[in-house]
Amino acid sequence: MSDLGRCFRHSSRDAIIRCSKCERAICEKCALPTTIGYRCPECMEERSATRTISAGRAFLGGSVGFALGCASTLLIPHAFGYLLILAAVLVGSGVGYIVKQLIGYKSSEVVGGLTAAGFIGGAFFEPLRSAALGQNFPQTSFWPLIFAVIGAVVSWMRIRS
Ligand SMILES: [Zn+2]
Ligand SMILES: [Zn+2]
Repeated sequence: MSDLGRCFRHSSRDAIIRCSKCERAICEKCALPTTIGYRCPECMEERSATRTISAGRAFLGGSVGFALGCASTLLIPHAFGYLLILAAVLVGSGVGYIVKQLIGYKSSEVVGGLTAAGFIGGAFFEPLRSAALGQNFPQTSFWPLIFAVIGAVVSWMRIRS
């Protein structure tokens, strides 16, 4: 029996610690570790609700995400075949990680969307360029498009979560 009494959320459980924010006693199951001590689920929820990002950060994250996505689709060799799928997952995850750091590990659908758009945009860059120069009918080849779609989905899921 602890001297903290019972968990404020579970009257049947002994509290093991106090929430570092609201100081209410919480049980082992409710104590969520954070960088600044343990917090109760209610304070954690409050924190995630206020995890909105500033327009400046969103712009920075979105542009870098777009540029990285676009560059990845353009620069990753086109003849990898099935290995390209693995590369797309790794690159999508890596780009997502970089962008996530840029926006302070917050979640953003907008930034994720821009990053995904970068991957897809990269697949259409070359066809659109040749179309603009009056060369061929714009068409993108199969593998860069596959790479772009997988990279887009993986990076988007990583940034929005
Ligand atoms: Zn709390
Ligand atoms: Zn509890």
